[in-house]
Amino acid sequence: MIKKVRPHQTQNEPLIFERSSPGKFGYQLPELDVPVVDPQTALGAANVRTEIPHFPEVSEVDVIRHYTRLSTWNYAIDLGLYPLGSCTMKYNPRVNEFVARLDGIAWAHPYQPQQLAQGALRIQHDLEMYLAEITGMDAVTLQPAAGAHGELTGILMIRAYLEAQGDARKTVLIPDSAHGTNPATAAMAGYEVKEIPSNARGLIDFAALEAAVDDSTAALMMTNPNTVGIFEEDIAKVAELLHSRGAQLYMDGANMNALVGWARPGDFGVDVMHLNLHKTFSTPHGGGGPGAGPVAVKEHLTPHLPLPRVVKDGETYTAITQAAGSIGRVRAFYGNFGVLVRALAYTLAHGGNGLKNATLDAVLNANYIRKGIEDLYHLPYESPAMHEVVFSDQRQTKQGIKTGDIAKRLIDYGFHPYTVSFPLIVHGALMIEPTETESRQELDLFIDAMRSIAAEAEADPELVRGAPHSTRTSRVNETQAARNPIVKWEPPASQ
Ligand SMILES: *Cc1c(COP(=O)(O)O)cnc(C)c1O
Repeated sequence: MIKKVRPHQTQNEPLIFERSSPGKFGYQLPELDVPVVDPQTALGAANVRTEIPHFPEVSEVDVIRHYTRLSTWNYAIDLGLYPLGSCTMKYNPRVNEFVARLDGIAWAHPYQPQQLAQGALRIQHDLEMYLAEITGMDAVTLQPAAGAHGELTGILMIRAYLEAQGDARKTVLIPDSAHGTNPATAAMAGYEVKEIPSNARGLIDFAALEAAVDDSTAALMMTNPNTVGIFEEDIAKVAELLHSRGAQLYMDGANMNALVGWARPGDFGVDVMHLNLHKTFSTPHGGGGPGAGPVAVKEHLTPHLPLPRVVKDGETYTAITQAAGSIGRVRAFYGNFGVLVRALAYTLAHGGNGLKNATLDAVLNANYIRKGIEDLYHLPYESPAMHEVVFSDQRQTKQGIKTGDIAKRLIDYGFHPYTVSFPLIVHGALMIEPTETESRQELDLFIDAMRSIAAEAEADPELVRGAPHSTRTSRVNETQAARNPIVKWEPPASQ
């Protein structure tokens, strides 16, 4: 009998536990030829396990194939466009990886004596210098491990600065278009959060801000370009207003990829800001490496920078671990060093003109997508888009289709979804950020997919509402998954 052909590798790869069969080994070692200390004697019988229940018994090739097959279910930046707005998922150039793997860098140890770690210290010093130049600020710390961590570091420095002047003040003002991490940061630093509304153009309402700033205001935290992808054109006026009332201006610089080489926050009055190396400077997001959220400050905040700080004296680099006024350590050792190396490689490989071009291309690509679909999707703000563009699902909701449905249908077209339902000030938001690394062909494919989905929404709404149709699992119960996550495997008997 001829069997029906089925692909050998299926989308039903079992769990590693289900691949287990008794007695299988991953390795086989020769008999020990040295005396063995009995662990039960050495550690005490009560502390030693003789058996790990349900531990999977598998061979090496079982393990390799299992995880390699799982990895083929992933969508990755090396596979195609990853249009997550706000996240800036740009390609990670291989030169970064090459440099990070050089022996002297990959094997450097944070406990190495400083005289034997001059290269590593210089890498940090040089990166700080370039980031200070790019942002127009006076000094930089590389320690924070993420954007949100940078925010906390920055607000703690503002608190230390105001405290040194005798009054830490009470509130931090935050526009309603802010990233969710901003209010969380202010609250963690002990401040009350006061929301400032946006105007009809998607910019901060200056009159509302003017009415809100008083002598209890510690700072305004402002994302620029903001989360609807629009440049806050009043920012210099905003800085002046805050300074005239003794408050500080914090800029969330996660969207700095729209400004690098063309505008410097230090020049328009920002006191402190963070950058996301895993966004603007092309280092991997998670998976391939942890993040980094350097913080840049103006001169008056430098005494409060976290420690250690790398300083250069002649040709010698030293990491200082003591300084009066510092907020102290925010991260073990020197921060995520491997990520810092990659960001420096990216900066040097591009050079000044390369970085300027990357910025232009990021803005051009976002506007190319905007033009390509704006006749089919509702655009809540007419203001010029920078590096990302935000639509709403207003037209598609007439067919009962929401932003999340369109995003899931994109999966069937082979694209990672855009950012869904964020920012919150746009109801049913579709937030799209192509980044500069995409070619026109790739952008055209994406536009084509989005246009096609808009047509499907009219002709066959059920097709879109039931998407994705091409994946291993389709719709999961998202409420249940969030409220009652089951993240641990249990053997069938005890379930
Ligand atoms: C990504 C982002 C953050 C947070 O950065 P993490 O590295 O994820 O902590 C903060 N603000 C804005 C505007 C962002 O886009």
